[in-house]
Amino acid sequence: MTEKNYDLVILGGGPAGTACALSLLGSGLRIALIEKQKFPKDKVCGDAIPGEAIKILKQIVPGFDREFLKVTQKLRTSGSVFHYNNRFFHKHWENEAYTCRRLYFDNFLLELASGLPMTTIYQESDVAEIKRTAESFTLITKSGSLEISCKMIVGADGVNGLSTSLLGGNKISRKHHVSAVRAYFKGVSGVREDLTEFYAGRHYGSGYFWIFPIYGGLVNAGYGLLSDEISSADINLKQVFTRIMQENGPLHEKFRHAGQYGPLESRGIPLGSCKPVISGERFVLAGDAASLADPLSGAGIGNAVVSGNSAAMQVLRCFRSGDFSEQAMKAYEADIKKRLGKELRRNAVIRKTINSFPLIPNLAFLFGKKFSDKI
Ligand SMILES: Cc1cc2nc3c(=O)[nH]c(=O)nc-3n(C[C@H](O)[C@H](O)[C@H](O)COP(=O)(O)OP(=O)(O)OC[C@H]3O[C@@H](n4cnc5c(N)ncnc54)[C@H](O)[C@@H]3O)c2cc1C
Repeated sequence: MTEKNYDLVILGGGPAGTACALSLLGSGLRIALIEKQKFPKDKVCGDAIPGEAIKILKQIVPGFDREFLKVTQKLRTSGSVFHYNNRFFHKHWENEAYTCRRLYFDNFLLELASGLPMTTIYQESDVAEIKRTAESFTLITKSGSLEISCKMIVGADGVNGLSTSLLGGNKISRKHHVSAVRAYFKGVSGVREDLTEFYAGRHYGSGYFWIFPIYGGLVNAGYGLLSDEISSADINLKQVFTRIMQENGPLHEKFRHAGQYGPLESRGIPLGSCKPVISGERFVLAGDAASLADPLSGAGIGNAVVSGNSAAMQVLRCFRSGDFSEQAMKAYEADIKKRLGKELRRNAVIRKTINSFPLIPNLAFLFGKKFSDKI
């Protein structure tokens, strides 16, 4: 058993955890970032890296552009094509966005974090227990080989992580949770390398199908639905995904000569339309652990990076003031509300309206088409 003592533990080495560590460069704090798996590792995702994530990373990582250039396995995306029934429109993105397999993107971020002074990264360390005393936490791994004590925790261990249930006391709410499947394909026809594609309408229920171009001639194709709908209608998501791909006119054509590359895998996405506990005495939660994915698109990497950055600012406030109380952590909640609240609220309302009134998506599509860009 190795026993260690740190100021801060960041639990989880995904975008939220690494963004937090990177934001604390020069803080002088002794930091342990604890990660369950060994990198490079995959994460079931659509691999669309939102412009907001890139924007914040540029602000917090000195020389980000130079370093990101070294990641060759990425594609710059310029916009998206939205298909609704048999119509479509194109929207151009202002921000610099990419697709990049999480295998490479997350590894890139963790490697950046591993170069930070006073930050130790523990990989293959699956935290199974968090014990609390009056002024500290102790985290113990499943194997029992590592025991780490700290004054504060940033819980960034994802959707089914320990921190959201154990520290926050949160439970998954199916009304605010999407289940999604994705697989990689080769040989998909009619795909432009700089455009992500979304398909919605009568064949897709309340969810949507995506086709995202990936470096190396691959596409990431997936489909997601509200978990509430899946359980109440007893839907088999993997079967529905395959049926949509094989039977829906435009998709059938695209995938006619395609071959699947790797397994079809499923994971959950916790939406930012609910209000879980995201902070308390000596802890804050970030990213999926704080249920911050966009309620409309399910995208969560941008908000993971933003909240990881906000969590770091809260860590600095706590260590400077010596105040780790539940009350002090309200500043973190206020910051999250300021940075993400408006968009999360707006998209939650849009999602709810779309689900409640079947005519709305048609109108929304016409509205979107009116403000579309030429391809
Ligand atoms: C099918 C699917 C498609 C998606 N597509 C997109 C997309 O295209 N674009 C987008 O922006 N978002 C997408 N998302 C959402 C996105 O994947 C998440 O919002 C994002 O990964 C959240 O980042 P995070 O750092 O909070 O959590 P994660 O990326 O889940 O990272 C958590 C980390 O914590 C580690 N961990 C967990 N438990 C422990 C433990 N006990 N001890 C130590 N370490 C632990 C994990 O190994 C992991 O590395 C998609 C999600 C799914 C499921």
